[in-house]
Amino acid sequence: MMKKPNTAQTILSVASCKMTRAILRKTGRGGTAIPGIVAMKAAKNILAAVSEGMEIVVVTGTNGKTTSCNMIEHALTSGGHECLLNKSGANMLHGMAADLIAAADWLGKPQYPYAVLECDEAALKLVVPYIRPKVIVVTNLFSDQVDRYGGVQNVLQEIRTGVERSPESVLVLNADEPLSASLARSTPNKVVWYGLEASVGTQGNVDLADAGACPECGGEYAYDYHTYAHLGGFRCPRCGYRRKDPDVAVISVDKKGTDGSTIHLQCDGVIQKVRISLPAVYNIYNAAAAIAATKALGLPAQEAIDSLSSVQSSFGRLETFSLNGNRVQMILVKNPAGCNQAFSYVTGTGEDYSAVLCLNNRTGDGHDISWIESADYEKLCADPHLKKIYAAGDCREELYARLRKAGASEERMERVSDYHALVEQLKEEGHPVFLLPNYTSMMELRQAMTQATGNREFWE
Ligand SMILES: [Zn+2]
Repeated sequence: MMKKPNTAQTILSVASCKMTRAILRKTGRGGTAIPGIVAMKAAKNILAAVSEGMEIVVVTGTNGKTTSCNMIEHALTSGGHECLLNKSGANMLHGMAADLIAAADWLGKPQYPYAVLECDEAALKLVVPYIRPKVIVVTNLFSDQVDRYGGVQNVLQEIRTGVERSPESVLVLNADEPLSASLARSTPNKVVWYGLEASVGTQGNVDLADAGACPECGGEYAYDYHTYAHLGGFRCPRCGYRRKDPDVAVISVDKKGTDGSTIHLQCDGVIQKVRISLPAVYNIYNAAAAIAATKALGLPAQEAIDSLSSVQSSFGRLETFSLNGNRVQMILVKNPAGCNQAFSYVTGTGEDYSAVLCLNNRTGDGHDISWIESADYEKLCADPHLKKIYAAGDCREELYARLRKAGASEERMERVSDYHALVEQLKEEGHPVFLLPNYTSMMELRQAMTQATGNREFWE
């Protein structure tokens, strides 16, 4: 637990942060860490002041952080609870500080009773001693940006250290994902579990590479059913260690479409039909996480359940644009698991479409793009509904080669270097388009799309 800075330090820190941020925004730059760096120079513990008394939910994990945060915030505000969300996506220590300070008054007093904060896996341990979250949600763990963290086991250890520094926080864990579920073994925190109780149809090849070994005996897991990748009903045949029964349980997926899913959910002893307004299986997990987080806050789960039929997508996360009346959906893909899930979604819609794949290897993406070798491009390229594939971004040649290897014919493919020209071309497409960029290429492509369609900037 960190001491708060004194009043003079707090005022100086808050003022320098707010002013730096205002200047940066005037010059067209949002979502940067600089105001937070300036603020923490003036008062190292400023985060303790600007989060004092707030009920905070922190969301970390490899995939689904942004959408889970968005769903939790929507659940809280729909239930009448005012809530801060770090929308800019700046999820490292300084970026989070900047967002919390911007939401406080000039004396550093928080203006919201609740906050939902997306947090980078490695930043968790730096942030929790200051903000003392009531709830920590861990969505899942997959191999991601290997060059940055050195493997998924290291990421798990980073998160474990963060949880150990916050023993009063209630953990919200994915019962189906063995790596992050193992956090419950080694920490004293209370846990609210969520998960899917049954298989959800074909979700691509079963890739168990990230499953890890049984934490009790080192044995290999067996699965009673799979949902996707290494998620599902896992158990260790050798020692009996197994998936926990979820408190928020999706018992069936009744309908999947491009505009959402309908599920049956069991929570607090009640089974009910629930509509989720965002499509794809991974958003069913995100929805279950949001319900579990609401429960962990001590609020009625029903508030979250009722809000799911009206939740809107976050920028780039199945965000839908209308381009000359044509549906264009953007799905951020940044690792094999996320990529395979996106392919399952686009190939499952049953209608003709074009796909735009964009790959950069800048700092925000991870410099190592070798993960494209293990993503299931074969599944995408084998889909008869796929009419055209565009390869774009700094690494479009590598992407092009990978797609050729996966069976895409040259006639169906095109390399693109200018996003504005691409958007013009997509206006004439005549069928739905899926945009599948990674992080920094999404920022560029999204800007071109925003200009053409009038969707808002990501930090607004
Ligand atoms: Zn075992």
